[in-house]
Amino acid sequence: MAKLKTDRREFIKYSTMGILAVVAGGGMVFSPMGAKAENRLRPPGAINEKEFLALCIKCGQCLQVCPYHSIELSDITTGYGVGTPYIDANIRGCYACEAVPCVLACPSGALDHACEKATDIKMGIAVLENPRTCLAVKREPIPAGYDDKMKEFLKNQTNVTEYEENVLKKFESFEGKACTLCADMCPMPNPLSAIAMISTSVGIIRPEVYDGCIGCGVCQEVCPTEQPSIIIKPRVTYEQFYKV
Ligand code: SF4
Ligand code: SF4
Ligand code: SF4
Repeated sequence: MAKLKTDRREFIKYSTMGILAVVAGGGMVFSPMGAKAENRLRPPGAINEKEFLALCIKCGQCLQVCPYHSIELSDITTGYGVGTPYIDANIRGCYACEAVPCVLACPSGALDHACEKATDIKMGIAVLENPRTCLAVKREPIPAGYDDKMKEFLKNQTNVTEYEENVLKKFESFEGKACTLCADMCPMPNPLSAIAMISTSVGIIRPEVYDGCIGCGVCQEVCPTEQPSIIIKPRVTYEQFYKV
């Protein structure tokens, strides 16, 4: 029984319930409310939100060079910072290009050129927000049609790149299998430094996030549940979320 309780505690740590519980207890360094104004996922290398908004000249260079069509420009329907670039991980995560071309293309300093390679990127942190819907936890196979969203996304692009075709090719091969998509599609050079599927002491299988996670959003994009079970907390670090 003691073991089960330990496991439950560990499990809750990976859900928002965990955050709320700690906040209620007064021990949390990150406040979701306090971070509300900064909760947009920005492209790699984005400096702090206030300076980012001041420096970004809304030129769109970063999104023009992105080979995965990951970056969008906000419009009046997406709130503040109209014209600034952001990533909607429900639609398309960042695939962590090794040379980070979006940063190289940025002429204003809004994306910091000190971010030179995939492992320098720090956009946020992945969190298993809804463990109860996670297919791995529920031990349900990946259903047919799970890849429709990505196919539709690519259909709407006028210039699908070879990189995108390769991602789709890999992504298409999972139907009917046990769900490991978040871990298997993680684009980091060493994905196991960022995320892995683990089996807990009471036999629950779930993704576990590590400090190599850069918050790129790909796991959120590819998660096949109706609302992604795993999501990104923008601008939150591994230490802030998992080491409290
Ligand atoms: S690192 Fe690559 S995939 Fe990610 S936003 Fe920049 S250009 Fe796009
Ligand atoms: S992709 Fe989603 S459903 Fe599948 S294991 Fe990861 S979090 Fe769970
Ligand atoms: S765990 Fe998710 S957010 Fe983190 S690097 Fe991998 S795909 Fe990106």
